Amino acid sequence: MIKIDYLIRTNRRSISISINNIGQVIIKAPRRVSMDEIQKVVDKKERWIALHKERIEKNNELNKNILTYKDILFCGNIYHIAFDERIKKITLIDNYCLIPLKYKDTYQRKLILWYKKIANEILTQRVQYFCDLMQLEPSAVKLTNARTCWGTCNSKGVVSLNWRLMMVPHNLIDYVVVHELAHLVQLNHSKLFWEVVHSVLPDYASRRKNLKQGDYLLALFR
Ligand SMILES: [Zn+2]
Repeated sequence: MIKIDYLIRTNRRSISISINNIGQVIIKAPRRVSMDEIQKVVDKKERWIALHKERIEKNNELNKNILTYKDILFCGNIYHIAFDERIKKITLIDNYCLIPLKYKDTYQRKLILWYKKIANEILTQRVQYFCDLMQLEPSAVKLTNARTCWGTCNSKGVVSLNWRLMMVPHNLIDYVVVHELAHLVQLNHSKLFWEVVHSVLPDYASRRKNLKQGDYLLALFR
């Protein structure tokens, strides 16, 4: 019998199963469905749940230091955090991210500001580069703190990019930028949309796959 960590009763019509980033099983179920019925549905998915849990636990073990803020990722590289009283601002040197000692109690907040500042510069540059290349112009570009996605583009032509993109390699940043700009042509994920993406980044599929593996980073710095 699978252990259900969270059961959320909703107005939905069917039972949904998901695993959160610490490997807990979350069930959403209609109000009238009995506990026995829910357990039956969940137990049928035993193999799927086990596989997902295993993958999440493996990933968590692999990225333990990043998930506990002992290390940080910047452009796909890992830096070990160290506090130093001699420096005045956050600095990357070799494999270290040096943080002024006086920030020790608030360093996660300081890191967010540091990431955002660099994101503003780099993402603006990349958007400009691909706008020129694709002959497109968003109505605005915004930096976001979204929980579930790296970027979005709405029907008003506003492209939003997550500042956490600064954690992933440049080629994945470019994929997200091109993806969102392509939505200015096609506001969906149709065949035509992917053709636009492909025309700019022929290897977009592997970038997309690699970015998916970094999705756990979206949960950091909350
Ligand atoms: Zn999209």
